[in-house]
Amino acid sequence: MSEGDTIHRAASGIRAALAGRVPEEILTPHPRHRADHWPERLHGRSIRSVDTHGKHLFLRFDGGLALHSHLRMTGLWGVYRHGETWRRPPRRAWLVLRSDGWDVVQFDGPVLEVMSDSRLRSRLAALGPDVLGESFDMERFLSRLRSADPTRSIGDALLDQRIAAGIGNVWKAELCFATAIDPWRPLATVRDEEAIGLMQLARELMHRSARDGIGTRPHAVYRRARLPCPRCHTIIRQRGQGDNNRSTFWCPGCQS
Ligand SMILES: [Zn+2]
Repeated sequence: MSEGDTIHRAASGIRAALAGRVPEEILTPHPRHRADHWPERLHGRSIRSVDTHGKHLFLRFDGGLALHSHLRMTGLWGVYRHGETWRRPPRRAWLVLRSDGWDVVQFDGPVLEVMSDSRLRSRLAALGPDVLGESFDMERFLSRLRSADPTRSIGDALLDQRIAAGIGNVWKAELCFATAIDPWRPLATVRDEEAIGLMQLARELMHRSARDGIGTRPHAVYRRARLPCPRCHTIIRQRGQGDNNRSTFWCPGCQS
C-alpha cells in the first residue's frame, strides 16, 4: 500500500531515470487521457525535478507545467529498462515516459493530471508538513492538530493530510503501537510531547523505509487482529475508525 515512504522511494527511481532529461517519447495509452494531448503539450520539455509531498508525486517540466500523481489504493509507478517486462499489463498503463533506455510507467492512475506549477503550489499549500520532508515544521503540525476537533481520535487525525502529509493506514496503526498510544484517544487527551514523539518516530522510521525498502517497516499490529501482541501478548483488535471507516489495529493491553 502506498504511503509517504513508498512514494518517496518511487520518486528516487523516477528521478534517476528522468531528472534533467527531455523524454524521447511520451505515451498515454489509457483512453481517459486520449483527449488531453499530453504528448503534444509536454513534447520537447526537460524534466526539471521529481518531487514528493506526503503521498503526492509531481514531475516539474520546463515552461511551468507539472504532472501530478496520487496513487490512492490502486496506482503504481514502475521504472524499467526498455524491453524489460513490466509488473502490470501494458493495458493498465496510463502514462509512459521513455528516456535514455528507461521506461517510466504509471499504472492504474487513479489521479494523474497536468497542471501549471502555480496551481500545483496552491494545491500543496493545503497539505500539512511532509513527514518525509528534509525538514519538518513541528509547530505547524501541532497548530494544525490543535485546530482539529478535539473529540476526534488521534488515529483518525493522523490520516488527515492537512495535519501532516504522508501517513497512511499501515503507518497510523504501527506508529500508535510503537509509541504505546491508543489510536482511539480523543485529541484533547493527547499531550504535545506525545504528538511530537510520535511524529519524530514517524520521520525516523519512514525515512528508513524510503531508503532501505518496505521490508524495514515495523509489523507489530497491522493486519494482525486476533493474534497476540508482540509486547504484552494481549489479543490485537481491529475496528473501522473515522469518517472513512479505515481499519485500525491496536493492542488494548499496552496502548493507552
Ligand atoms: Zn500489547
